[in-house]
Amino acid sequence: MKIYLIDDEPFALRLVAHQLRRLGFDDVQVQQHPRDALAFLEAEHGSIEMVLLDLQMPDIDGIEFVRHLARLGYAGALILISGEDERIVQTACRLAEAHRLDVRGALHKPVTPESLKALFGATAPTAAAVRAPAKRYDAERLAQAIANGELTNVYQPKVQLSSGEITGVETLVRWQHPDDGLVFPDQFIELAEENGLIDALTRCVLSQALRDAHAWMREGYPMHVAVNISMQSLTSLDFPDFVAHAVAAAGVPAHLLVLEVTESRLMNDVLAALDVVTRIRLKHIGLSIDDFGTGHSSLAQLRDMPFDELKVDRRFVHGAVRDSVSRAILEASLGMARQLGMRSVAEGVEDLDDWTLLREVGCDLAQGYFVGRPMPFAVFEGWRAGWEARKPVLLASDADRLLDELG
Ligand code: C2E
Ligand code: CA
Ligand code: CA
Repeated sequence: MKIYLIDDEPFALRLVAHQLRRLGFDDVQVQQHPRDALAFLEAEHGSIEMVLLDLQMPDIDGIEFVRHLARLGYAGALILISGEDERIVQTACRLAEAHRLDVRGALHKPVTPESLKALFGATAPTAAAVRAPAKRYDAERLAQAIANGELTNVYQPKVQLSSGEITGVETLVRWQHPDDGLVFPDQFIELAEENGLIDALTRCVLSQALRDAHAWMREGYPMHVAVNISMQSLTSLDFPDFVAHAVAAAGVPAHLLVLEVTESRLMNDVLAALDVVTRIRLKHIGLSIDDFGTGHSSLAQLRDMPFDELKVDRRFVHGAVRDSVSRAILEASLGMARQLGMRSVAEGVEDLDDWTLLREVGCDLAQGYFVGRPMPFAVFEGWRAGWEARKPVLLASDADRLLDELG
């Protein structure tokens, strides 16, 4: 892995570079002057896979630097280094994520070999490497893609934390672009919403999901199948009937379908949305409040809409064991779900620490890379077999020791 380390303190630079080499990373370049670092990153063409960046630098501070990284379209991973208070560093990480940078975490000064190892141990190959390059598409091309069947579903498992049982999947849409490769939803959902294409997209995702749900039933594994629904679809009054028909036509019991909803900035007709969601629940279709805890998913919605599942956003899940603020929000959300009789799901479960904490605090379901990545229907059975083998270890009280032994 090609690593680029930027810090104005020569001593810190030498120390971290040395520690990285001891971890087996030989290709470490260092830079003391942020402006030179930017010039370098602008000139080189995507060979740097990881940037480690000090937040306090004279001249250009780390926050400014992050903004420039985003402007340059830097597609590698990023780790922030700082001596500041934990909350400031976490805010900086969020900011970098909001710029769509691939943030892998933060290191506190003085950096220790253990903390480096922990971060780099968890570092998977950069997602950017397999994604299609960030590119803007127009509505016409997207409409064509929907019509041509270029959209495909992938499924990410949800499992019960207490028993390890596989209870369902979340459907996530991908655009298999004939020239650009796999395009992720963050590059076309908004486009669809803004150009009146979201209903066509939802219909396409939903019908494929129901077909696959039916296939799982036939194979003897009936599971919940969740589909993401844009709030915009919830304002078309014929939506509940459309969904009910689709479910019946596919031969899937209504209660196996779950609709995951996030409030969008585009929602303007609250009354219509309330009408629609209430009728959806009357038809016994599940309704889940997605990204709970974020700006678009609020307490008022919880009060006003008949949700039966609450999904805690991944920013309050991953790493909550080390972040007292996230943990407080996580536990409060779970408490609320419990009191309201809702099923709770934690998204973004990325490691054993996340998994163990969620078991302790009594969350119902887990979803995330630690359990399984989103995958095509065809490989799900293979994943299931692997999960059944891993499950007993993850339910043991000494899971960390057993996992260590298994390497
Ligand atoms: P979401 O509903 O919050 O979906 C979860 C996202 O988190 C997915 O990204 C998933 O791949 C990712 N993820 C899952 N586990 C982990 C983990 O352990 N760590 C991290 N860091 N990420 C994880 P994806 O597939 O890129 O989808 C992004 C968003 O696009 C979704 O966020 C959803 O809001 C939207 N979306 C996806 N499919 C559809 C769709 O069919 N219709 C609509 N309206 N929106 C969709
Ligand atoms: Ca979702
Ligand atoms: Ca979510």
